Amino acid sequence: MLANETEWPAMVAGRRSCGKFRIIIGMMTANVTRGTAGCWWRTYWSQVAIGVLALGPLVVLQACRPVTPAVAPLRFDPSETIREVPVAEKAVALTFDDGPNEPFTSQILEALEEVGAKATFFLIGTNVVYDPESARRIVKAGHTVGIHSFDHPHLNTLSAEAVAREVHMGFDAIYAGTGVRPALFRAPYGKIGPGLADVCREMNCLIIGWSAHGNDWTESMTSEEIAEQIMAKVYPGAILLLHDGNETIHGGNRKQTAGAVRIIGQRLKEQGYRMVTVPELLAMYRPTQFANGVQIRGVTWMPVSVRAGETVNLRYYLHYPAGFLPETTAVFVHFKARRGRPAFQDDFVLKPGMLVRKSTVRVPKDVPAGQYDISVGLYPVGRIIFRDRIPVACTALKTDGNAVILSPPLEVRAATP
Ligand SMILES: [Zn+2]
Repeated sequence: MLANETEWPAMVAGRRSCGKFRIIIGMMTANVTRGTAGCWWRTYWSQVAIGVLALGPLVVLQACRPVTPAVAPLRFDPSETIREVPVAEKAVALTFDDGPNEPFTSQILEALEEVGAKATFFLIGTNVVYDPESARRIVKAGHTVGIHSFDHPHLNTLSAEAVAREVHMGFDAIYAGTGVRPALFRAPYGKIGPGLADVCREMNCLIIGWSAHGNDWTESMTSEEIAEQIMAKVYPGAILLLHDGNETIHGGNRKQTAGAVRIIGQRLKEQGYRMVTVPELLAMYRPTQFANGVQIRGVTWMPVSVRAGETVNLRYYLHYPAGFLPETTAVFVHFKARRGRPAFQDDFVLKPGMLVRKSTVRVPKDVPAGQYDISVGLYPVGRIIFRDRIPVACTALKTDGNAVILSPPLEVRAATP
């Protein structure tokens, strides 16, 4: 069960992926599979189905080959706060901070069960010590638990020693209370303190932030308002923050949040989203690698549905091989209707140190409504895009010649009159 996975690096090594098959699509070569650790993924039957349907002849099903931690780089640096995970499929992670806190933790567990969601609870150590039974209920229901410090201080006001103590004591409280060794940390108030990255790296703990919150600590918020605030910020790979507790106050009222979980769960299901734990979301992540060694480790965009004339925010997660000269290569990002020419684009030249590129694209006002595929590829600077594209060496995504096609497509609605 991934939910209670104890050792993050072991999970990175693909222990869970060894189900039945691993799917490798496209022009993967023996060199690439052997020479780089970036070319491995875990997959789900849905992707197998999509891959088979879309790319029959190019699909190679391989018996699962576990990747050992020694050659698999961490896909996420423990010192960087993960606020979202670039994934292709419709999945989000609901997260709850400040518990355990009864009776609200149990109310939220019930709501999660009703909507068929698995979530991640970031527990405060002192609250676990106070009510370990509640913490065990979370674990027993198949959810993931992470550390949310011991005492909920502003870590940025503490010394490195005190920060380390908060992480260690939070870990110890959860381990003693539940038997789970947490591998995720979320900073109270999102404030990163001195030495936090070091202590998290030592403990193989990833720092998890959030891409959106429900403002559910504001007492006047109704369940409907919390749900609306969350649903406005949903996109594949989003990490959504709610609360089952109120810092270290025992019994802090979170009734509205429990109600919001029912609404959010229902709406997400209607939109085809799965609600997964943070480790499950991280495990869905798959990099795409090009023949020159450049990896596009993921792209996120939001919103996924937009009116013509409005903007889309994109983030590209990039990785260069050793010795690579970024300025020699450009990325093309084309938005095109099925069988159509690119209607608009977001091309850019790679730069040294550019590991995350953020951009905003305005959808032209005169673009017809419809589904727009987002295709992403590389070409050498100064060359003709279509003739000289750099081949995709390996990817788990759909490809179109030498570009990968992200899914879901961007939905463009008619411009407001
Ligand atoms: Zn908190």
